[in-house]
Amino acid sequence: MRLLVTGGAGFIGSNFVRYWVEHHPDDTVVAFDVLTYAGNRPNLADVEDRIAFVQGDIGDLEGVTATLAAHDIDVIVNFAAESHNSLAILDPTRFFQTNVMGTQALAEAARRHGVARFHHISTCEVYGDLPLDSDEVFTEETPYRPRTPYNASKAGGDHAVRAYVETYGLPATITNCCNNYGPYQFPEKVIPLFTSRALDDQALPVYQSSQNKREWLHVDDHCRAIDLVLHHGTVGETYNVGSGVEASVEQIADAVLAATGRPLSLKETVPDRPSHDRRYLLDSTKIRTQLGWEPTVEFEQGLADTVAWYADHRSWWEPLRDRAPVVEGAWEGPAAGGARP
Ligand code: NAD
Repeated sequence: MRLLVTGGAGFIGSNFVRYWVEHHPDDTVVAFDVLTYAGNRPNLADVEDRIAFVQGDIGDLEGVTATLAAHDIDVIVNFAAESHNSLAILDPTRFFQTNVMGTQALAEAARRHGVARFHHISTCEVYGDLPLDSDEVFTEETPYRPRTPYNASKAGGDHAVRAYVETYGLPATITNCCNNYGPYQFPEKVIPLFTSRALDDQALPVYQSSQNKREWLHVDDHCRAIDLVLHHGTVGETYNVGSGVEASVEQIADAVLAATGRPLSLKETVPDRPSHDRRYLLDSTKIRTQLGWEPTVEFEQGLADTVAWYADHRSWWEPLRDRAPVVEGAWEGPAAGGARP
């Protein structure tokens, strides 16, 4: 395969690039990334000599088309997105620009060039949220009911991809994954945020709705799921990718404090962000039964390893912290309505 991995300098994209060159050393990998504040070339430092890197915007139809031709790409894996729910509250426009219009432009470039596969990365969040105490789960047939600018923009991108399948026969697949954790996650997201702050003996900002839960999957297990879908998935299909392992914001804070040997008194309650979803839980029966996928990283061990990775990689996350455009709770204070550019 000759893959274009968009968003390849971000968290999951860079882990996927590393995964792919290790598991498929004969394939060609081109990482494509516009390098927003969340994109970081050093994420690819240990594989730079085995890949090509192109700096570009998925919304730039001509630029993407030229890249597809120059590298004779036959598979696109689209991770490129604005991905931070909190930032989306303050600056929704950039989310719709990249996640909807950018995804459409990328699909259009893929259609013009002709690819064997267009794989689009989506999220459990497009299905809306669940009550904390319900037995409901999201299947691939659950209607989309997004509630936040981030998950509405992801839903729009998914619809664009599906329209290209139906209308133009684009050979696309989609995976909707639960919350990922692991190395190289930007320190604005909850696990690296809590870990980096705990390591510096700073307060952990725990949302008021501290029992709101997420389903957690190690990024390596996500990469293996995408590999299976690329090799054995059916064009036009969507696959949910979830671990079934849930943990609340408070449980994550407690686990990080325990792993770093810091006191529980570092927890500090902050106001919820508006439209804070309570819970998502995926039914992943389809990918498990049809493609034989199952998660391999046990959550407690994966979390402990992840906390240890951040403790060992201070020089990686310290400079990134200053680039984070949003401070939790900004929607309540004088900064409400705006984010740092
Ligand atoms: P991230 O923010 O770490 O990385 C996103 C990358 O995309 C960055 O490198 C950024 O520079 C790049 N990018 C942004 N706009 C771009 C554009 N217009 N053109 C080219 N590149 C652009 O995000 P992530 O956590 O790695 O998420 C990757 C994908 O996975 C996203 O589509 C996200 O919605 C999805 N997802 C993430 C999770 C999770 O828990 N992190 C869960 C499910 C789905």
